Amino acid sequence: MRFDLHLHTTASDGHLTPEALVAAASQASLHAIAVTDHDTVESLVPVRLAARDTGITVIPGVELSATHEGRDVHILGYFIRPDDATFLARMRRLRDARLERAGRMVESLSASGLTLSIDEVLQIADGGAVGRSHVARALVAAGHTQDVSAAFRDLIGRGRPHYVSKPVSNPKDVIAMIADAGGISVLAHPGVTQVDDLIPGLIDAGLGGIEAFHGDHSPVQREQYARLANDRGLLVTGGSDYHGPGTPGVALGEVDMPDMVLERLLQAGERLESAR
Ligand code: AMP
Ligand code: ZN
Ligand code: FE
Ligand code: FE
Repeated sequence: MRFDLHLHTTASDGHLTPEALVAAASQASLHAIAVTDHDTVESLVPVRLAARDTGITVIPGVELSATHEGRDVHILGYFIRPDDATFLARMRRLRDARLERAGRMVESLSASGLTLSIDEVLQIADGGAVGRSHVARALVAAGHTQDVSAAFRDLIGRGRPHYVSKPVSNPKDVIAMIADAGGISVLAHPGVTQVDDLIPGLIDAGLGGIEAFHGDHSPVQREQYARLANDRGLLVTGGSDYHGPGTPGVALGEVDMPDMVLERLLQAGERLESAR
């Protein structure tokens, strides 16, 4: 079975609309997808509608960012209730903070001579949760940098001169936020963000799974994280983290995983549903 449990759309910083993503998933003969936009569930209804006649199983998801001592900790939330008012209000605050941060990056860039307006960034974000990808694309459009990866490498990547961090957000609070919305928390791409030392504490806080099969994980990392998750009685998940054609990383549906990964996640979702 082919499936992909980590995908972005134009509701955050992906390049494909929810409809186009479902069409691409259908083209790629995927059996199941989970859309996991940054700090928003706006794509979930359009994805579900677009997938209705395709036979593709859609799992509701989200990707929330936390920070711990200057490191990013990304937490995926699966089976969150997309209409939970508290959850929606909390995500709204996260998106407001993203907007404020984009404004500060624009100011910093402009002050150094790379003149950019927040409107140029927002036009590219087109209503989606605004992030550094949009700032990067605006920099390219303004002719200030060669391409998106150069923008991250030279200007807005972590540790670069115009990087602005997100407000501190405790990973444990993020796990609680997902639990409050009825979902399962999964630690996203731990091998990319290098947060192995945090895993025991996150498990104590209610972490339900580890994304072992991430597009940017090596085969050894995939095996190690899958073993760790199994040993701790956690779910194993995986996905490409696809952001659209021409973006860095693995293509849609191109991460090989055992069928059991999907089966166990769906079973966990059913247990949650029946407890609701
Ligand atoms: P943000 O959440 O605003 O900090 O932006 C993080 C997002 O930027 C990630 O989810 C990726 O989509 C994108 N990103 C991070 N690093 C790079 C990079 N070096 N090149 C291209 N996109 C990147
Ligand atoms: Zn992204
Ligand atoms: Fe991430
Ligand atoms: Fe992601």
